[in-house]
Amino acid sequence: MSSLFNTEPSQFEIPHSNPESMNLIPRMFNTLLQTLNEDELKEVREAAYKAFGKTGLKDKGIDIINITENNKFDALDQITNEAKADFARRTKFQKLGLYIQAGMSKLLNPVGTETLVDAVASCQTAGYLPTIKKFIINMDSAPDFIFHEMGHALTDKYGNFLSKFNIKSRFYVLALAPVFLLTSLIKTPNKNKDEKPEGVVDKTTTFIKNNCGKLVAATFIPILIDEALASIKGQKLAKEFIQSKSILDGLKSTHLKAYSTYLLATGLFGGVSALAVYFRDRWSAKYKESTDY
Ligand SMILES: [Zn+2]
Repeated sequence: MSSLFNTEPSQFEIPHSNPESMNLIPRMFNTLLQTLNEDELKEVREAAYKAFGKTGLKDKGIDIINITENNKFDALDQITNEAKADFARRTKFQKLGLYIQAGMSKLLNPVGTETLVDAVASCQTAGYLPTIKKFIINMDSAPDFIFHEMGHALTDKYGNFLSKFNIKSRFYVLALAPVFLLTSLIKTPNKNKDEKPEGVVDKTTTFIKNNCGKLVAATFIPILIDEALASIKGQKLAKEFIQSKSILDGLKSTHLKAYSTYLLATGLFGGVSALAVYFRDRWSAKYKESTDY
């Protein structure tokens, strides 16, 4: 176990959320960015900085790392170094938590920090990294992404107890998904439908097996809530500072598209889990048939 805790952030990757660049849904939503001309970009950028100032997030120690093609390697260094320093300060218990979070965010989006930074530079995504209190975003070309990310930070720093608890728990709840799936795959199916499960363990595992797809999908609920909150808060903030209706409409559609990647992921993970259990049981039934004489 000690080697696990000695591993540095660059090797386990920093927990992040960035639906926009999810490899899971190949390239489908990679065109989230609305096409803005130079004047519009300027308007959004100014609005973004004003909004950032108004939120008071800077006083909470949160800052923006503007990542472009020109400085992406420096940005990667900065993020990695800050994450390492943060990691070194953590207790063993917190380090374990970071591992779980990083592992789960990687399940959703199996890219490393390097790829993430690259995706930010090329305007495919943006992110809020709560551990190092940074927004990672291309403010030159995709400043509109920051409103959603500020929404995350607002929940993180000013949310009520429930929404704060929700944002902190999201990756831990998601970690139940592989537990549900593995339990269902290991559990042998009942020989016939009328057979009732006996005892707490049998009853629980039977319930998990019978509802595996739904349970796996349910582990996405905290993420779905958090993402919806971030977009609602971000859109509200944008409305205060952006005058142009067409830009606001474009932002709304960006938020909706990003959200639909999460809904799709929920459906995919749930559906695939249910199918996996179905086929596992069919194969084991077939195997039984061929060996039962
Ligand atoms: Zn988000």
